[in-house]
Amino acid sequence: MPGLLERYRPYLPVTDRTPPLSLHEGSTPLIPAPKLSEALSCELHLKYEGLNPTGSFKDRGMVMAVAKAVEDGADTVICASTGNTSAAAAAYAARAGLKCIVLIPDGNIALGKLAQAMAYGARIVAVQGNFDEALHLVREISAAHPIALVNSVNPHRLQGQKTAAFEIVDDLGEAPDILAIPVGNAGNISAYWMGFREYRSAGKMPGLPRMWGIQAAGAAPLARGVDRVEHPETIATAIRIGAPASAHLARAAVQESGGLFDLVTDDEIMAAYHRIAGEGVFCEPASAAPVAGLLKLHAAGQLKPGQRIVAVLTGNGLKDPQSALRSVAAPVAVPARMDAVLESIL
Ligand SMILES: *Cc1c(COP(=O)(O)O)cnc(C)c1O
Repeated sequence: MPGLLERYRPYLPVTDRTPPLSLHEGSTPLIPAPKLSEALSCELHLKYEGLNPTGSFKDRGMVMAVAKAVEDGADTVICASTGNTSAAAAAYAARAGLKCIVLIPDGNIALGKLAQAMAYGARIVAVQGNFDEALHLVREISAAHPIALVNSVNPHRLQGQKTAAFEIVDDLGEAPDILAIPVGNAGNISAYWMGFREYRSAGKMPGLPRMWGIQAAGAAPLARGVDRVEHPETIATAIRIGAPASAHLARAAVQESGGLFDLVTDDEIMAAYHRIAGEGVFCEPASAAPVAGLLKLHAAGQLKPGQRIVAVLTGNGLKDPQSALRSVAAPVAVPARMDAVLESIL
């Protein structure tokens, strides 16, 4: 498959002057989850966005945002990031020959993501504050300097990200009944909703899904119906955000689709994370939140049986190996002798 700018060109703000930027992002698999489907009495598919070039859905928005930055003559991009945005921005900036600056919350970013941004050559500044503070700073910097902001408040990001909704409909032949997705800064849920509506307007399918946005309990302003959570906390660092920049769009998506917001605890997230791994699919903790939400709502009797559901697994498990290692027993060391190995495995 070609990259997104080519595959979905008629639906994107691509002009003759937009460079053909691509790392072959998108076209990720929609993987059936038979064990979870049985547990939920539903038909669950996992949209495995961890197979994008830098390991998260952020590549979809970043290819569009960086291509437009090049088209507009920028030579530097900047973002605040819980990790995956910086990895994607650094990769596409490297590919396009731009400089990249990222502000990360000091000490609260998964190791794999930091390693990526460093390898791709980004200038990394660890801010002694949280994501919301870092985002505030980069917005001011880009307003005052000729540096392109590539956070999801940049509308090109959502344009690129909406293509995941197209792919789901292309794969299923119609929209699912429910789209369950983790919500942090709330850009992605908004992008999917835009994508589903555009595809329906284009005559690709008759119906629209209900949008179920799942937040981590310690960072759940939308699920709690408040404007902000002052000190967001969760093991799922990718959604550790207290004041979602696209909250208004996300609320509209949930309201218009007849969907819902809900929240799940870190324990529920990690339980879901292991059940997803039990399907042979490895995602990062934030990505397990929608499955945790489905399990919770099923247990509460709020999930009608037989529905077709897509859960968006936003990022790859390899991003955050520490979370995996923290939650299982460490390997047992034995001498390099047959008897010792046999004793430990039989
Ligand atoms: C960015 C991110 C999210 C949250 O997406 P928003 O658009 O900020 O709501 C969820 N999971 C992962 C892995 C992410 O990188």
